[in-house]
Order: sequence, then structure tokens, then C-alpha cells
Amino acid sequence: MSSDTSRFIAEHVDSLKPSGIRRFFDLASTMENVISLGVGEPDFVTPWNVIEASYHSLEQGYTAYTANAGLLELRGLIAEYLQSAYAVPYRAEDQVIVTVGASQAIDIALRAILNPGDEVIIVEPCFVAYASAVTLAGGVPVSVGTQAANEFKLQPEELANSITKKTKAIILCNPNNPTGTMMSREELLPIADLIQTHDLLVLSDEIYAELSYDEGYVSFSSLPNMHERTILISGFSKSFAMTGWRLGYAAGPAALIQAMTKIHQYTIMCAPTMAQYGAVEALRSGSASVEQMKKSYRQRRNFVMTAFEEMGLMTNRPGGAFYIFPSIKETGLSSEEFAEALLMEEKVAVVPGNVFGESGEGYIRCSYATSMKQLTEAMKRIKRFVESRLT
Ligand code: PMP
Repeated sequence: MSSDTSRFIAEHVDSLKPSGIRRFFDLASTMENVISLGVGEPDFVTPWNVIEASYHSLEQGYTAYTANAGLLELRGLIAEYLQSAYAVPYRAEDQVIVTVGASQAIDIALRAILNPGDEVIIVEPCFVAYASAVTLAGGVPVSVGTQAANEFKLQPEELANSITKKTKAIILCNPNNPTGTMMSREELLPIADLIQTHDLLVLSDEIYAELSYDEGYVSFSSLPNMHERTILISGFSKSFAMTGWRLGYAAGPAALIQAMTKIHQYTIMCAPTMAQYGAVEALRSGSASVEQMKKSYRQRRNFVMTAFEEMGLMTNRPGGAFYIFPSIKETGLSSEEFAEALLMEEKVAVVPGNVFGESGEGYIRCSYATSMKQLTEAMKRIKRFVESRLT
């Protein structure tokens, strides 16, 4: 009998490719003096009052499970927040679930809605987890590309062309990872029309909603007829600098949230209790610290945008999140070649755009969630590298 235990692995898992981001992290971790613009997480520590509230909950002995869907108090605060920030009404009792990061919300949303072979449209370049999450849930990911010429905004005609009889849902991420693109109400309305016409569901990943720099954020769920067709996914990782707490949530039609809660109940039980108490405090009092972090990200966004323009690389104007997605086509290198040579020669880690989908080829993702000092040095190094390739 074969000693190769990989024969036990299920085919749909075996076929998943490891994340392209990981390879660069692994390479960078073997080197010294690397400036990483690769990671997608805030460089801030969680606001102190949030840490204290979580700590205090432990001191008080709140160490047991919570309700499967999360503390009712927290769900209530999430519902209040969604109402006041984006004018979308949700009932805490049956339309909100607290999850282990937005990641788990995406996973259980897909598992709750997909039958084998159902297609889910993914708008690329996009967060690396979507396609695999669809595959793991038994669905088939179908990619629609976006282009720099349209500021990486989804074009309704292109969406229409990719809808088939098997399409069940579309995953939208606004503001987008990796491009930072933020779509306005006017740009989202024709997308909503198509969703309505073709009787589709939307998984709206709004994890970066709070981090929007130029205009007010519009939740997909607030568009005409979309409340009943949207599972809004968000969380605390990005806006409150709480990536390690693993806390997110989903809000949506009661039947869908209840179906997700069933999966959650049998696989997870509930999100970590002490993290939930931290999140209660974050929502009660966190807006001042979010504003401060946002101000700092905006300043860094402006800095990196100007720096890339000055070195002759075309770049979009990212309206949100903390990523910029400049073109590196001018250097004649592929995005993998660019990222690898930049790391080796100048010790700056960025992510090649092709890991986010085919339409990301020719671009690199740089996260500006790092200090101005580090960013200034990184931009100096990238400029030197680009100059060496342009001459
Ligand atoms: N969605 C997007 C678009 C992301 O960029 C990330 C994190 N990189 C997530 C979801 C997952 O967030 P969480 O930490 O809440 O699981």
C-alpha cells in the first residue's frame, strides 16, 4: 500500500493553488532589512480601550460560549452602526451574525447558498480567497476582469456577458483589494439593475467601507431592491486594526442569515467571546480612533500616489482601502519578475498583480499601511529600481 498520505486528500482541495502572496512572504522572511508593502493589514495596534474592554471581560469571568450568532448586544450595535453609517436597516435578532473574521462570513455565505455546479461571478483583480472559497463550497468561480482604463471599475456590459443560467451570485468588493477602487452610487446602480433582472444574490464585501478617502461610502445593500438580495460582509480587522482578533460579521435577509447560522453552529459554535466584548467597545466608542487612522492612511495614499506618478509609473487613484495598484508595464517586466527582482535588488516586498487574477498582470499591489518613514524609504528604493529598468 502506498505510503503517500496525500491520496487521502479530497480532489477539490488538492486542486487548490496555494496563495501567490505566501511565496513572497516566505522569500522575504529569509532576508534582512526588507521593507514589506506586501501585507494587507493595518500597522496600528488595536485602540487601547478595545483591548481593555476585552481584558476586563476576562477578569469578570465572561469566558463561556456566547449565543451562536454572537452576543445580542454586539449584534445590536452592528445593526445600529449599519443604520447610522450607511442607512441600511437590519434586525439584531435574526439578520446579523458575528463570525470569525469576514473570511468566515464569506465561507458560510457561500456554503449556505451554493448547490454543486452553481456559478459565482468574481470581479478581478480581487482578494485571493474568493475563488477558492467558491470551489470549497462546491460552486464554480467565473471571473470578470476589470481594466485600468476604467479605473478597475466593473462595467455592466462585461458583467452581463458573464451571467449564465447557472449564475447564482456575484461577489463584489468595494472598496477593492487589491486596487483600492471605490465605486459610487451611480456606478453601482446599473450593476444592481442586472442583479435584479437576473434574480441574483450579492455577497458584498464591505470590509474596507470605513476606509474611504474622497467621497461618502455607498453600501450595496442601500440601493433600490438590493436589501433583499445582499449579504453584507464586514468586520473589525481593517477599520479597527483588529486582524488578529478574528472578528467579522454578516448582515442580510433573515432566511439567509439563519442558514449561515446553522453552518456556523455546527462548525464554529460562536466567535471568540473575549473578542466580541472588545468589538462591543470598538463600536461604542471607536470612531475617534478610526478617524485618526483614516487620516493617516489618506496622507500616505496621497504620498505614494504622487511618488509613483513621479517615477513614471501610471497609477489609479485609490479611493479606499490601503492599497495602490500601479502599472509596471513600462519596465517591460512581468509582475512576478518585477516583484522578485525588486525584492532581491532593493529589498522591498510587493505583491505581483497576477496573483489577484489574470487582469492583474502588469501591475503590483503595494500596501501603504506602514509608517511614513518606511514608505519614504520604500519609494526611494522602488524609484531606483524602476530607473535601472527604464534606462
Ligand atoms: N475581504 C477582503 C477584501 C480582505 O482584504 C480581507 C483581508 N485581507 C478579508 C476579507 C478578510 O478579513 P478578516 O480578517 O476579517 O477575515
